[in-house]
Amino acid sequence: MRVFNFAAGPSTLPLPVLEKAQKELLNFNNSGMSVIEMSHRGKVFMEVNSKAQALLRELMNIPENYSILFVQGGATNQFSAVPLNLLQKGKADYILTGNFAQKAYEEGCKYGDMAIAASSKEANYTYIPNMDEVKFRNDIDYVHFTYNNTIFGSRFTSLPKTDATLVSDLSSCILSEEIDVSKFGVIYAGAQKNIAPAGLTIVIVRKDLLGKAHEKCPVMLNYAIQDKNDSMYNTPPCFPIYMSMLVFEWLKELGGVKAMQKINEEKANMLYDFIDNSSFYKNNVNKKDRSLMNVPFLTPSDELNDKFVKEATANGLVSLKGHRIVGGMRASIYNAMPIEGVKALIDFMKKFELENK
Ligand SMILES: *Cc1c(COP(=O)(O)O)cnc(C)c1O
Repeated sequence: MRVFNFAAGPSTLPLPVLEKAQKELLNFNNSGMSVIEMSHRGKVFMEVNSKAQALLRELMNIPENYSILFVQGGATNQFSAVPLNLLQKGKADYILTGNFAQKAYEEGCKYGDMAIAASSKEANYTYIPNMDEVKFRNDIDYVHFTYNNTIFGSRFTSLPKTDATLVSDLSSCILSEEIDVSKFGVIYAGAQKNIAPAGLTIVIVRKDLLGKAHEKCPVMLNYAIQDKNDSMYNTPPCFPIYMSMLVFEWLKELGGVKAMQKINEEKANMLYDFIDNSSFYKNNVNKKDRSLMNVPFLTPSDELNDKFVKEATANGLVSLKGHRIVGGMRASIYNAMPIEGVKALIDFMKKFELENK
């Protein structure tokens, strides 16, 4: 039996996609072999690669003056790739809204004069600073922010107000809601939250930013080199690319990002409404900044939190334990989490409350 898996990443994938992958595993497209056994430079795989790219471009409405790169090393590798590719004046500003934002900033500091333009650390990252008030330095190469904060359960609902290049980590919210790609210089995302198995990182970069990398930038991190080689400078992560293609097809069939966003809002609202109307559960994130994808919540005590996670697991609702730096529970309700999963979680929460109040 399949459980409802609320893991933050790697995370649940759409069942029809898994079934299709299973069906095609032994003999992909009449090649007589699986898609993970063939040359990445052969016609069959090249088609998978370009189809995945084309679908992503269509789904996110990515303009022609942007390149899509399929790379490795996770979102974490991009913490270094971004400064190595973009720094010209040697300065960038970061907005600290969580653990990954902090890590991106710390990595950036190795390469340039980085500043923290705003932070919500003093409130344990329970809100997003007001973008109308945040000021940036002059002569910076970019502003970096984490669009959705996976651990703390917050998200940006408006963009930093600046003429500088916007760089954003969309690891845990890519394809979950409509965004205007043309407002960004670089978008990056590890695939293992909202798209595919771990191993693939997606980078979307405006073409005028290519070709300016630091001379010591490692070849694998160099956007221009990846772009020139159609992300096949070396062996790409074939299986996650193939799985991405299937997920993109699934998402397109469902009506694309617009339709997905509606479903995501419905799922998240249902869960937040339930939590807000309860005197037993609570979520500490500022209401207007709450994530559609990651919903942290607490019961009145640590003992009850532990008991909740244990009993939920026994009821087929798994991986609800919160991140160790926040505690409590966290329900990650990515695109692939069906609405039935959220309903089942709420039903369980009601029952648990009655039994433990
Ligand atoms: C998970 C996550 C990361 C880390 O991703 P890796 O692919 O493991 O390097 C970075 N940023 C955000 C927002 C994440 O959710």
